[in-house]
Amino acid sequence: MIQPVEDVRCVTAAMIALTAERKPGSAAAAPPAPHRHSHGVQPVSAHRPPQSPASPMSKQSEIPGIAAVIAVASGKGGVGKSTTALNLALGLRDLGLRVGLLDADIYGPSVPRLTGIHEKPQLDDNRKMIPIQRFGLAIMSIGFLVEEETAMIWRGPMVMSAITQMLRDVAWGTLDILVVDMPPGTGDAQLTLAQNVPLRGAVIISTPQDLSLIDARRGLAMFKKVNVPVLGIVENMSYFQCPECGTRSDIFGHGGARLEAERLGVPFLGEIPLHMSIRATSDSGTPVVDSEPDGPHAAIYRAIGVKVRDQLQGVIAAA
Ligand code: ADP
Repeated sequence: MIQPVEDVRCVTAAMIALTAERKPGSAAAAPPAPHRHSHGVQPVSAHRPPQSPASPMSKQSEIPGIAAVIAVASGKGGVGKSTTALNLALGLRDLGLRVGLLDADIYGPSVPRLTGIHEKPQLDDNRKMIPIQRFGLAIMSIGFLVEEETAMIWRGPMVMSAITQMLRDVAWGTLDILVVDMPPGTGDAQLTLAQNVPLRGAVIISTPQDLSLIDARRGLAMFKKVNVPVLGIVENMSYFQCPECGTRSDIFGHGGARLEAERLGVPFLGEIPLHMSIRATSDSGTPVVDSEPDGPHAAIYRAIGVKVRDQLQGVIAAA
């Protein structure tokens, strides 16, 4: 006998990930995007190039009400991707835009900790999840549905289904920009995600040292492969500023990401210092752009936000 989930005792909500595996070779790779030689900030076209039905990108469709979905990505974990995604979203909010944040870092969702949100989303009349409103952002994370400590040992197709549901089965409302905090790395899950989600651009986070940059380079190549414009590279933990005396030390080297951006012909979006208050505010759920709006760090995130917004202006205006 089939029993509705609502009737099962002690179950208040269910999230169902349906998976379907594609036969090997049935998805042709998208042609590489043309290399951009300009180092400047270029607007992203409001019109998507037509996709052939054989292209994996042909599965994409816009999310009603959202003008631009952008990804914040890094080649590896621990470089401050989630911290930057949240503060960038707040920087964009400060520019007067309607902004949402989707934590798609399914393996280690940190947005609940970074935002201090520990409530579960409710369902609306259309059975869509209502994103949590905090700091003027519409926020959704897999971490609102499962414990942060729960190891997410999901395979690629399950990850994709969960992310698709969090994109499409959420009542996002009207947004200018939805910032997607991507899972770290450039494996199958990330590639499939970039192919399925209608991304208008990607922001790559790297620390200054070589190892992180090599990973960031892979991220860039991945987005180019699936025709997602790279909005630019951010150098996080760019330098250390002593909170006591203000002395600056280049702990991980400095300027590597800027050089790499120049070499690859993508915009360099800015340098974020390694600073105690960024860490402390992140880890206490009071992101620095919101809790110290007049401080130097908020200004840096806002300046990065301006460079991102400027590239998306055409897309936002067209919507
Ligand atoms: P990722 O998403 O890449 O795994 P997180 O954003 O979770 O990384 O950051 C990892 C840790 O580094 C967190 O404790 C965060 O507070 C800290 N962190 C990130 N960026 C900075 C920064 N610019 N200065 C100080 N601490 C930072």
